[in-house]
Amino acid sequence: MADFGVKTLEAGLDFSRLPYWDVVIIGAGPAGLAAGLTSAHRALTTLIVEAKGRPGGQPQFLYADKRIVDIPGFPEGITGEELSERTYRQAVNALVQFRFDEELIAIDDTDDVASDDKLKRVVTNRDTYLCRKVIIACGLLHYPRRLPVLDELNSRNVHYKSPKIGDYEGKTVAVVGGGDSALDAALMVLGRHGRVHLIVRESEPLGKADTLARIRDAGGIVHTSTEIQSATFAGEEIRLGVTVGGPLDCSLVIVQIGFLSAKETFERLGLTLNADSSISIDPYFETSRRGVFAVGDVHGDIKLITVAWAEGIQAAIHAFKEISSPYWLNEKRLRDNKIALIGEKISKAARARDRRE
Ligand SMILES: Cc1cc2nc3c(=O)[nH]c(=O)nc-3n(C[C@H](O)[C@H](O)[C@H](O)COP(=O)(O)OP(=O)(O)OC[C@H]3O[C@@H](n4cnc5c(N)ncnc54)[C@H](O)[C@@H]3O)c2cc1C
Repeated sequence: MADFGVKTLEAGLDFSRLPYWDVVIIGAGPAGLAAGLTSAHRALTTLIVEAKGRPGGQPQFLYADKRIVDIPGFPEGITGEELSERTYRQAVNALVQFRFDEELIAIDDTDDVASDDKLKRVVTNRDTYLCRKVIIACGLLHYPRRLPVLDELNSRNVHYKSPKIGDYEGKTVAVVGGGDSALDAALMVLGRHGRVHLIVRESEPLGKADTLARIRDAGGIVHTSTEIQSATFAGEEIRLGVTVGGPLDCSLVIVQIGFLSAKETFERLGLTLNADSSISIDPYFETSRRGVFAVGDVHGDIKLITVAWAEGIQAAIHAFKEISSPYWLNEKRLRDNKIALIGEKISKAARARDRRE
């Protein structure tokens, strides 16, 4: 089992005294971790904000035990969990700072300036961070939609992904949702001698009809056109108040009501998007907002760990160049500047011609 309690190597550095961060990265998946360790290796103060409680992104959360065989240098392959742990440790050693369980809400422009850079304010659900550059590396779809009425209960018996077999074996479980993943969860519980209340908002579950039939055959009770109104503790059990029928008592609730599309986040950030709702970027990985970069699965066709790494590294180097080079040395700004200067010359000539006519 990987040890995520990695100790930092910092020699008494007090990051809380920084007036702003050089780089704030959103997401501790492959792209964000690679970007972070690259910028931190160049002595940029680097903060990674991660919505989940652990680093690693998809390899950690979606295929921790799978042996990944297409990463150069690992002829026997490496599991998603080990790869995540190793990359995280490398980032910590490079002095990247992390905030877990913190979700990006907004990126605001400010009037504060640091060496020609207008600072940005990264707003999360817990804090705000001033910074010079932002790198968005938050992948495409990860957030299971949550039910506030259940979150308020603050119970470890409410799950948004498949719990361990021992947690539900032989117990009464409420499964919320009517899609394939909810039906699969219900079947999984029934297969382990559990009892199931499947709570579906729609008049008919949207998932596969044959799975639904198997649930019914195995004794699962399907509550259609039903929503959860309240959740309270009843001894060891959770009591759900529902819109149709009496309260339902269960040991565990599994919620499978879909993922939040990252598109909602991208639109809220005011970024130009491609036709497929991914983030549009230029050859420098910069988005339509100056100083905001986007890397990894958030754009592009090739969704691979190595590609996410490569993009994270390149964006971090572009951010580093912008922060450390004098303005006139910066390749991209020089190009932008050239275009602006030529544009200015053309309009000047046009104005002179108009005056003559
Ligand atoms: C089942 C499966 C198997 C795969 N197998 C392979 C393989 O064998 N080899 C391979 O190369 N690739 C594989 N991939 C693809 C690979 O996992 C992805 O391309 C890669 O993880 C993309 O990295 P990323 O950093 O861009 O995004 P992600 O890995 O998605 O990481 C994004 C991180 O950002 C966080 N985040 C999201 N929104 C916010 C927010 N608003 N605020 C803060 N944090 C946020 C997320 O919690 C997550 O930790 C596989 C993918 C899947 C689904």
